[in-house]
Amino acid sequence: MTRASIIDGKAFAEKLRAQIAAEVAEIKASTARVPGLAVVLVGDNPASQVYIRNKARATAEGGMASFEHRLPAATPETELLALVRQLNTDPAVDGILLQLPLPKQIAAEKVINAIDPDKDVDGFHVVNAGRLMTGHPGFVPCTPLGCLMLLKDQLGDLSGRRALVLGRSNIVGKPMAQLLLGEHCTVTIAHSRSRDLAEECRHAEILVAAVGRAEMVRGDWIRPGATVIDVGINRVERNGKVRLVGDVAFDEAVEVAGAITPVPGGVGPMTIACLLANTLAAHRRRLAIK
Ligand code: NDP
Repeated sequence: MTRASIIDGKAFAEKLRAQIAAEVAEIKASTARVPGLAVVLVGDNPASQVYIRNKARATAEGGMASFEHRLPAATPETELLALVRQLNTDPAVDGILLQLPLPKQIAAEKVINAIDPDKDVDGFHVVNAGRLMTGHPGFVPCTPLGCLMLLKDQLGDLSGRRALVLGRSNIVGKPMAQLLLGEHCTVTIAHSRSRDLAEECRHAEILVAAVGRAEMVRGDWIRPGATVIDVGINRVERNGKVRLVGDVAFDEAVEVAGAITPVPGGVGPMTIACLLANTLAAHRRRLAIK
């Protein structure tokens, strides 16, 4: 059996970001305007701080404007809603990203659904979920969008393929399944109540794992030659060191799959690149730039 080819999400994301930066430069030259992304962080969650720093850096590298709003952990919901309304009408802002999780006193869903759907570059608004479900143009959550790009790059036409999505969150699993359905795959969604996950997985030509369980998917769950996209990011301690691993046992899977994304360096870099792609798309749509 030959080893799987490694899907290099980092290299793909770098190419995509360079392409986006070139398009932004072109828009700037002709309109003197650039796409703008507002990032809102409430509280001081250390992981969130790292994420928003990376997002702000990527936005700047893409030639876009980045507006950061850091609010204290005790911010009342009404104040956050007022900020969202202000960003909704700010002409310099094309995209609004609300960093999750939010503190307990704030109902995340209420604030997400207060964002103008046409500035909802995370694609979490119920209107964008509905657009995806019904096949209308809208914003698609960045992580599944990045997974789909990698799959199409690897496999070309996905039509008729058997796909299994492990996980059914609103952020990853459900939109991923919708996207695959949109590509005419035969889609199964598995979750914590599914019976015999291993057997479900063994049927899949495309396997997307998004469960948040370190190395749960073993090598003998994978159909030989399958394309495996590992969304999971799990911190585990090995020999006294903290390592990042996916939801798939990579060393086993690589001996069976046809192609597989590594963790890190697979899906992760695509998420930020797709955020920039969505922000550029929001800018084009708002200013009716073809
Ligand atoms: P959630 O916790 O929201 O959802 C996890 C899903 O996995 C749920 O549908 C749950 O089922 C299912 N699940 C959990 N345990 C099991 C199990 N033992 N067997 C079968 N199904 C199970 O996670 P997210 O979707 O937000 O994220 C999933 C993973 O992807 C995480 O590791 C996260 O860190 C990572 N991630 C990575 C990103 C990236 O940029 N690479 C971006 C976003 C997430 P049920 O619904 O029945 O509870």
